[in-house]
Amino acid sequence: MRRFDQLERQLIGAASLAELVGMLLSEYKSAFGVEHVTLALVDAEYEVARILEAEPVSAPGLTLLGSGAALEKLYGENRNPRLGRFDASIHGELFRENRGNIASVALLPLARQGELIGSLHFGSDNPERYDSVSGTRFLERLAAIISVCLESTLNQERLKLLGLTDGLTGVQNRRYFEHRCQTEISLARRHKHPLACMFLDVDRFKRINDTYGHQVGDEVLRSVARIIQGQLRAGDTVARYGGEEFVALLPQTAANHALDIAERIRARIAAEPFGSGMPGITISIGLSMLPADGASDNGVLAGRMISDADRALYQAKHTGRNKVVCDGAKPPMHAGKTALAEPLARSLSALIRTSFGLYSDLRKRYGPM
Ligand code: GH3
Ligand code: MG
Ligand code: MG
Repeated sequence: MRRFDQLERQLIGAASLAELVGMLLSEYKSAFGVEHVTLALVDAEYEVARILEAEPVSAPGLTLLGSGAALEKLYGENRNPRLGRFDASIHGELFRENRGNIASVALLPLARQGELIGSLHFGSDNPERYDSVSGTRFLERLAAIISVCLESTLNQERLKLLGLTDGLTGVQNRRYFEHRCQTEISLARRHKHPLACMFLDVDRFKRINDTYGHQVGDEVLRSVARIIQGQLRAGDTVARYGGEEFVALLPQTAANHALDIAERIRARIAAEPFGSGMPGITISIGLSMLPADGASDNGVLAGRMISDADRALYQAKHTGRNKVVCDGAKPPMHAGKTALAEPLARSLSALIRTSFGLYSDLRKRYGPM
């Protein structure tokens, strides 16, 4: 009971879905001396898959199911744990990765509000360990706790995503960008990698809204975000900075390469048919690189990189739009419009100075539940 109590506390304290699943797949084995543990989760909308892509599970043994049908078949109407001898024709699939010498199994249905959300499987080399006559109260309780923990961490993950993504376009929001900027600058400086920054602003967007209405404008923004994201790598960051302005961070990307990518984004958007009767949509892009300056702190460098990109964007706007301008490549500098750069640079410096911990903040606000 004491070991169980300990395990229960650990499960309830899990900070993320990956951590919870990792615990189920590894801690239980060591705490109770079970040789094989596997877990199946119903994930019809690929939600769990996406969450775990960002933070993978450290232990093997997880399977994601496209529907609950297989589990319905396994447990039937009666959603109680199933204990008994291992039967390869029924249980083989559940222990696909490493079947070893499993002789007896315990299968725990995980359900919330009457719906099967998953199934946890224990396999023991001892044929007597899980026999059909032993009591299952302990395992029923474990299944109920795990189900609640799964639901709660999933809700936490949903909140994290809501707090970090832009509701209209689905790309990251400014808050995430500011946090990520800090991380990427530290990494780039430590490993002496180049870091490119792009500001992207839709040209004459106000006209689209004025002519076709804001719903059409919204649709254009969604498409633009999708196209930008489609041209970037998984490790890059794209965020909606506000309105019709996006910002992208490209780690380990040299200036000439970043310029190629920016040019590709510009050309893709200019070529996109946005709908019959609509004029072509174009975008202007300002590009800058993280300045090499060993002396300044991250906040100062972030501010400079961002105002450089904004200045380049301003040049692109004032020399014809639908173009990419690389900071430093085309003098003269315009001292005029820094309306976008200054508040961002200021908030970034403040952010980095106070070493703002985004995740710990989220945890404080939302979880654990
Ligand atoms: P420029 O080429 O100089 O960038 O011109 P612009 O018209 O794109 O720039 P301006 O900043 O004057 O106008 C941006 C417009 O974007 C104003 C606002 O109505 C619109 N906008 C901002 N946020 C949204 C949004 O979420 N949805 C829609 N549909 N429009 C938005
Ligand atoms: Mg703008
Ligand atoms: Mg604009």
